[in-house]
Amino acid sequence: MYIMFKIILHLSFLFLVDRSLSSPIKQNKTKVLILGAGLSGIKAAKTLLDRNITDILILEGKNYTGGRIHAIEFANYSIETGANWIHFVNDGETKPIVDRRDAKKMQGLTSNYSDILVRDEAGNDITDFAVLREFYDKIEHKIEDYQLKRKGQPDFPARVGMQMMGWSAEQPIKSVIEYFNFDFEFARSPEVVSFHNMFERGEDFFIADGRGVWSMYEDLYKPLEAKTLLGKLVKKIKYNADSVEVQTSDGWSYQADYALCTFSSGVLASDLVTFEPALPDWKKRGHL
Ligand SMILES: Cc1cc2nc3c(=O)[nH]c(=O)nc-3n(C[C@H](O)[C@H](O)[C@H](O)COP(=O)(O)OP(=O)(O)OC[C@H]3O[C@@H](n4cnc5c(N)ncnc54)[C@H](O)[C@@H]3O)c2cc1C
Repeated sequence: MYIMFKIILHLSFLFLVDRSLSSPIKQNKTKVLILGAGLSGIKAAKTLLDRNITDILILEGKNYTGGRIHAIEFANYSIETGANWIHFVNDGETKPIVDRRDAKKMQGLTSNYSDILVRDEAGNDITDFAVLREFYDKIEHKIEDYQLKRKGQPDFPARVGMQMMGWSAEQPIKSVIEYFNFDFEFARSPEVVSFHNMFERGEDFFIADGRGVWSMYEDLYKPLEAKTLLGKLVKKIKYNADSVEVQTSDGWSYQADYALCTFSSGVLASDLVTFEPALPDWKKRGHL
């Protein structure tokens, strides 16, 4: 009896392996596939649900939803590994997020970046408010007007733009200011950050709440849990004018009338996902 059970187990395993290696396992067709369960994918799916488009399936590569809004447990604390700030809390465009923060009574701190401490490599306090002020007066405060005047003209590196506006980093403290504004903020140096993407800082809110930033969006992702498949790493997206087929790394294939791909430009610029036919060049340029 035991041997028989073992043989059946082995046979079924072989069957599974064989199927995943050859032709993909097909799923029933859905109306819409949402690729990625970050905020964009979840919000898009909830918007469809609210409009009675319920034949939706969300495919997510990780084993959690939220994407780049994600907290981990560390030494009994919840640490955000991605988005932590609500930027420009006084700006009308941010109101929907600020309303969520208030409805959930999220704990945190407001920051306007006026209280800054700069140290050199030996740990000495080299804060010089005159220099901090210079960056604000020469660059930050004027940047948006300057960009507006150049509207429609080609972009260039932030380094070039700052030089044109009268700033150069000839002192260590100035390099620190640049590090804070570019390398830290954009994960790139001023040589490669777009001048047109520079902005003046406003008032921000740092969320420090054990429930995690993603909990602010519970009303969006909860109703979609039954329609979300985790651990589904998309490898191939085949599309034509009428339908889409999405293949995942575990050998499954999902069909739909429409698919919405919410992967980051970094993912799209890599070789992780193959599009068939390949995306047009103008779209690929946007991923760089
Ligand atoms: C370290 C860090 C700090 C940040 N801080 C802030 C901040 O303080 N304030 C702020 O407003 N914004 C911040 N952001 C930006 C913010 O997190 C993102 O703009 C936002 O979360 C993007 O959401 P999204 O749904 O568009 O993309 P994502 O969250 O990236 O969602 C895309 C989803 O697709 C999935 N996916 C990707 N490839 C595949 C694949 N091949 N198959 C299946 N699934 C796949 C991903 O796992 C992910 O879940 C930060 C980002 C990072 C990385």
